[in-house]
Amino acid sequence: MQRLRPVQQFAKECHRGRWSVSDFPSRIGARVVVDQNATGGHILGMACRSDRGAVIGLDERIFGTRLYVPVLAHEVSHLLLGGSGTFQCSSTAVCGSSEQDAWFGAAMLAVSARLLRRIDRGTMSPMDIAARCSVPLEMVNLAWAVHAALDDHLAVSVHAAHVALTLWEDWLDRATHAPLII
Ligand SMILES: [Zn+2]
Repeated sequence: MQRLRPVQQFAKECHRGRWSVSDFPSRIGARVVVDQNATGGHILGMACRSDRGAVIGLDERIFGTRLYVPVLAHEVSHLLLGGSGTFQCSSTAVCGSSEQDAWFGAAMLAVSARLLRRIDRGTMSPMDIAARCSVPLEMVNLAWAVHAALDDHLAVSVHAAHVALTLWEDWLDRATHAPLII
């Protein structure tokens, strides 16, 4: 999980500055373009970094849905984690470690640690936080698990993060295969 530290650090700075997820691409010098889903496939977003700069592509279908924040955060996470080439991201491609890491990172970017601490204090519920952050509950659970895994270094916490990732993947799969994206 230590490879996620750069994303955690970036998330901390952005959340401290009250930046919204929509602001994150410009913070890392990435340009956002809207894809017309010409293929009609299940690609939700893409990210690439080349000599001409970093680009994030978002499928036009996700705008105005609960997929928008998670997918945008996922693409930002790819760029923060590095790696070469173009990442094409769909609900059915969550199998490689780079996709898993990008979803772990997306959860930290979309849901701040500050908000998660309010669950412990009893001043917000996970559902409240999901609504505040415009993400499904499964992403709040994933964020909680990833922060725990990074903070306490316990094997059981890392396992819990992977369980939360599986539940997130299930939600993503259902959402993207529904007749209308939620
Ligand atoms: Zn991806």
